[in-house]
Amino acid sequence: MAETIAVENPATGATIREVPVTSPEDVAAVVERARAAQPAWEALGYAGRGRILKRAQQWLVEHADEIADTIVAETGKAREDAMLVEVAYGANALGFWPRKAPKWLADERVRTTNPFVLGRSMVVRYRPVGVVGVIGPWNYPLVNSVGDAIPALAAGNAVVVKPSEVTPLTSLLFQRGLHEAGLPEGVFQVAVGTGETGAVLIDHVDMVMFTGSTRTGRKVMERAAQTLTPVSLELGGKDPMIVLADADLERAANAAVYYSMQNGGQTCISIERVYVEAPVYDDFVAKVTEKAKALRQGPPDGAGSVDVGAMTFPPQMEIVEQHVQQARDAGARVLVGGHRGPGPGRFFEPTIIADADHSMTAMREETFGPTLPIMRVKDADEAIRQANDSPYGLGAAVFTKDLAKGQRLARRVEAGAVCINDAAVNYLALELPMGGWKASGLGVRHGPAGLKKYTRQQAIMTYRLPLRREVHFFPYNARVTNLISRGVKLFYGSRRR
Ligand code: NDP
Repeated sequence: MAETIAVENPATGATIREVPVTSPEDVAAVVERARAAQPAWEALGYAGRGRILKRAQQWLVEHADEIADTIVAETGKAREDAMLVEVAYGANALGFWPRKAPKWLADERVRTTNPFVLGRSMVVRYRPVGVVGVIGPWNYPLVNSVGDAIPALAAGNAVVVKPSEVTPLTSLLFQRGLHEAGLPEGVFQVAVGTGETGAVLIDHVDMVMFTGSTRTGRKVMERAAQTLTPVSLELGGKDPMIVLADADLERAANAAVYYSMQNGGQTCISIERVYVEAPVYDDFVAKVTEKAKALRQGPPDGAGSVDVGAMTFPPQMEIVEQHVQQARDAGARVLVGGHRGPGPGRFFEPTIIADADHSMTAMREETFGPTLPIMRVKDADEAIRQANDSPYGLGAAVFTKDLAKGQRLARRVEAGAVCINDAAVNYLALELPMGGWKASGLGVRHGPAGLKKYTRQQAIMTYRLPLRREVHFFPYNARVTNLISRGVKLFYGSRRR
């Protein structure tokens, strides 16, 4: 009998389903099926693929409740987090990528000023890589696993998704949806399994899109180096928010609470630390405290039932608990929460930590839980210094009514994306590249580069016949070489002047 994984509901502790595992030994055959199916999928062209992905969009909208129920069950997140962030993202992506692919992957004409190749026509074309392996985490089973498969499919690739073993059900449900929408057999497959299944997948595919921890991201890159397989990595974050004295404090406090607690704080672009200018520090902390106290937490029971859901991944509870305890011991004030919630589900209370500083792990390491540590700073320069004092660089937020100042500060933050008077919502604009600096990743998802990464570039140069005057530089000899050298000096020398 095939090995199975038991999928648990983190909000109740109950086992939802047992699913069969793709063992590391089976991975090669899965990728072979994908490789066999890919040429016909590519040959369908943008219009043919677009029609199928559009039908998948229709399917997703019609099955929105079933998908949200599945996500809520396997992650324990609030229903709004499943519906707003995951289902809505999927519906948008299934329309967006097929619409953009023909334009963003169209042949590009290139001109040259180099006299040695004048007259040739030059074209850059984008060809799908073949089979893309998507390895996803447990925090967003739709956005971060299936979501990355959509642009890869639109570009003409076959895809094998390896979801987190903690949350495989959403990917399996989406596979059913694509099948019902008419996606040819083998073009999209799900390989449920452990980290080892993911590691073996890297050996067989043509490109890897990975989302998860920085630690595992390094392993993925090392493994991919063996076969020179390109990787795109979206890794951990420790996103800072900077609140200046002239900020709209109500908006800043709402954003701080929402974007730190949304999805139980288990979002790579969660607000994980706040720096507030001294004159408004006390007011900001008071507002945030009041808002966090009003949050409702517990097992999700339909729309509007709770604001903050469960902790999806068991070991995460200890990390969050340790960060809060260490901050407390180092002198921070825990103003709201700070403890595990009641079982049988896995909950950690929404937690506000005031008077934090960089001696605390809660300000330096990724917590990935419903916590908001806040630090008082003298001025904007200190805020920028502290914000950049981190190995991570995924997202950031600056709150100020002075937009010019906000934009100047944004350019000084070492992060792949910065929002002014907002946080994290840049993720929803699929036109914008989204990717981490430093230990937060490599490459981007979204934007033209987030699609082109699923392709190989090919340069095609054509020497048009007949030419009125043929120019032959071959075979070289000393005389020709000297002439060229004089020509180069003349041509480029004159250009410099
Ligand atoms: P991991 O990075 O360990 O796992 C992400 C995915 O990679 C999972 O599908 C996992 O499989 C798979 N995997 C594990 N080992 C390997 C390997 N050697 N080669 C290829 N694939 C592998 O994340 P975790 O789920 O363990 O979460 C740990 C931490 O990562 C969190 O505490 C958080 O800090 C961070 N994280 C960041 C996320 C983000 O969005 N940036 C998302 C999730 C986590 P399996 O789950 O089956 O082990």
